[in-house]
Amino acid sequence: MKINILSTEEDIALLCANKVINLIKNKNNAVLGLATGSTPLKTYQKLIELSKKEEISFKNIKTFNLDEYVNYKNFKDSYKYFMYENLFKHIDINLENTFFPNENLLEKYDEKIIDEGGIDLQILGIGANGHIAFNEPNTSFNSKTHIVDLTKETINDNSRFFTSINDVPKKAITMGLETIMKSREIVLIAIGKNKAKAIYKLIKEKANPTCPASILQNHPNVSIYLDNDAASLLKK
Ligand code: PGA
Repeated sequence: MKINILSTEEDIALLCANKVINLIKNKNNAVLGLATGSTPLKTYQKLIELSKKEEISFKNIKTFNLDEYVNYKNFKDSYKYFMYENLFKHIDINLENTFFPNENLLEKYDEKIIDEGGIDLQILGIGANGHIAFNEPNTSFNSKTHIVDLTKETINDNSRFFTSINDVPKKAITMGLETIMKSREIVLIAIGKNKAKAIYKLIKEKANPTCPASILQNHPNVSIYLDNDAASLLKK
């Protein structure tokens, strides 16, 4: 794992957006794995800016999102909506080339990813409890796309996006850890002190399912981008 500690979220976003731009320059039909949440937002903003500036087209790009809520009350709560608002509507991507896991597909989502050539670059955040996508602690390292019961901690963390904690869906569908590990390249971004413990476990402890992100130690091409707060426990 290549570990990069940068001073601002802005610097991290610029580097990660450039990684995506460079991939698309070399492969105009690249397959991207995308994440939602607060972490990738700045990277998406930079991606929009850079792609406009450099006239990069997403017309042939395909995207697979990591996860989606099950039984969300309003479309605005869905990750599909999040992606549309924060990235897709600002670029020239064909929405038919953007894929999300759903209850009808389950493991067929893994097959679909393979059929489309596999993910070239997967962007990941990390949960305060060490989850990646919605693979909560103790998820099997061999998991494929599956439905999960979200932990109390994750429901709490995500309630900031909802008017009331009661509106946060209790279930989600997520790529499995094995699904994520099949990506050719992975970029994990962590910002803020509340991620420091999970980052410490990911980097310093032996890979084990109590910290799902630690599976990344077994991947040959992972880059981790941290701000000083997320990296704070590594320096002690
Ligand atoms: P966040 O979530 O980006 O909103 O902090 C990350 C995650 O739960 O994977």
